[in-house]
Parts: sequence; C-alpha cells; structure tokens
Amino acid sequence: NFMRVVVQDDGDVSEDDRNGVELLCVVRAVLKKIRRRVLVGDKVLVGSIDWVDKRGMIENVFQRRSEILDPPVANVDHLLVLFSLDQPKLEPFTLTRFLVEAESTGIPLTLALNKCELISEEEMEAWKKRLRGWNYEPFFCSVGTKEGLDAIGFVLRDQTSVIVGPSGVGKSSLINVLRSNSGGGVEDENWFEPIIGNKWFEDQRVGEVSTRSGRGKHTTRNVSLLPITEGGYLADTPGFNQPSLLKVTKHSLALCFPEIRKMIEEEKCGFKDCLHIGEPGCVVKGEWERYPYYLQLLDEIRVREEFQ
Ligand code: GDP
Ligand code: ZN
Repeated sequence: NFMRVVVQDDGDVSEDDRNGVELLCVVRAVLKKIRRRVLVGDKVLVGSIDWVDKRGMIENVFQRRSEILDPPVANVDHLLVLFSLDQPKLEPFTLTRFLVEAESTGIPLTLALNKCELISEEEMEAWKKRLRGWNYEPFFCSVGTKEGLDAIGFVLRDQTSVIVGPSGVGKSSLINVLRSNSGGGVEDENWFEPIIGNKWFEDQRVGEVSTRSGRGKHTTRNVSLLPITEGGYLADTPGFNQPSLLKVTKHSLALCFPEIRKMIEEEKCGFKDCLHIGEPGCVVKGEWERYPYYLQLLDEIRVREEFQ
C-alpha cells in the first residue's frame, strides 16, 4: 500500500524548493505495529527520501485536529451535509440521522439542499422555516441549473471538506462541479501552505497525505483530496451513506441537537447526565418538532449500549 504525500515547504529558503513535490510513500512498519493508521489529510513526517524516484517512508503522524471514518479523512474542517428536496424526497427523520452523525464529529457543518429547481418557491420557504426551527440555516442549490453553487463554494473555501449524505442526492455531481479544473489536482503548486519555522534533517520532510493508492482495493476505499476552485480541498469520496451513530452515546445524543443545546444554554435544563425524557425540573421535553426523533434515536442507542 502506497500513500501519496505532498511535501510542504519547511521555510528554509536556502534549500532547494521542494514544496509541492509528490512522494510515493510506504508506512514505517512500527506505525502499523502500534496500529497508528495513516489517513488521507494527515500531516506526516517523511524520511528515507529518494528525490529522484520520488519515494519515501512515512515515519510519524502529527496530531490530528479532527478525523472522520466514513470516508476515512484526517484534519477535516467542514462537513457539507447534502440532501435533495425531491428525487429522492427530503425525509426529516433521515435528515436528522445524518445531522446527528455529522454533529457528533464536532466538525462545523453546513446543510445544503439540492435539486431546488424541482420544487416551488412556496415549498422552499416552508422548508427554510421548518429547518430554522431545528436551528439550521439551509443553503438551497441545484447542481443541475447551477443555482446557489457559488454560495456553497464560498463556505467551503480554504478548508478541507467532506460531503456527506444519502445516495442519489447529487453528492458526486456536486464534487465534480466544485473541483477545480486545474488538472489532477495533486500537482497543483499551491497545494499546501508553507509551514514556517520547522526544520528537519536533510532527508526528512513534512508533507500531507493526499491520496491513498495502490493495492488492497477490496478492503480500503480510495480517498483523495481534490483542490476546489475557491481554494481548499474536497474529499472525492462522499461519506455517511448509512450513519452508524456508533460514536454517539445516550448522553452525547442531546448535544447533537442544536435545539437542545440552545435550551441547555437558556438553562431550561441544568442537570448533568439528564436524558431529557421527563426528569423532574427538566424542560427540554416538550413541544419542539424533533423531540420524537430524539426519543427514537435515544431508544436505538440505549438498546445498542445494553447489548454491547
Ligand atoms: P450521489 O449518489 O449523491 O453521488 O448523487 P449523484 O451525483 O450520482 O446524482 C444522482 C442523480 O441526481 C443523477 O442522475 C444526477 O444527474 C441527478 N442530479 C444531481 N443534481 C441534480 C439537480 O440539481 N437537479 C436534478 N434534477 N437532478 C440532479
Ligand atoms: Zn434535562
């Protein structure tokens, strides 16, 4: 298994400029032994570099700002949750599952609703109002008519993002439109920001993993980060086709609902460990649209926790 690593400028101007050089790297055996997985998006230390054949070995992995598992990408800055308004129809409970899974990563998210040309102004207004009630401000777009795509490019600019959502909503189509047309992408000269002030030994460099490639196609999904026109990168593989909610516990679930977070801020419930299912003094239970969804997901998670 090889990983493509794009070398970052180490800030030492006296050396040859190797910024942007792409190295095909193997992972040092000891990292595998301690089960240190190297993900696309990881910042890594590369040694044993052969600059002629452009080969190297990943020696170590820097601490991650964030990571997601579906698709496996490290240092993700932004999740774009994409649904369609029609074909397939926007289904509120399914949308809730995806939002909860996305919220559980702690990564900032944007909700975008595609295929807006398929519904009327009035229907769109109704969705906007409803989703504001969930404390989300949705973006409406159409990959088909190109409506609203600039705004989406703008929120994703200069960040590493992953699009998540169910199948058929237009994720692949959107990725295709947003990716810059500068070619293969990884060769892009502006691929990485220079890191200033880091010095490594002559044969060691810092780089970022841009692609997993090579063998093992049956077991590993191939992920690459593609540069987008506005600056920043987008995983070419969409994620969360089936949100597992495996990282959500019965206590963390409430925090994946912005409505509950708001109610807690407003001190409608000040109890630690409260599940908000009618405990005396808790006012979270009540007349808000997604409360039944919260209860349904809570049940599901409790059953899973009991049996594991
Ligand atoms: P994915 O499964 O989420 O990756 O969805 P795809 O990108 O494969 O798109 C599924 C289908 O929806 C394809 O036939 C697309 O051409 C179509 N599609 C994508 N965006 C739009 C849109 O804005 N409007 C309409 N009407 N169809 C779209
Ligand atoms: Zn409570």
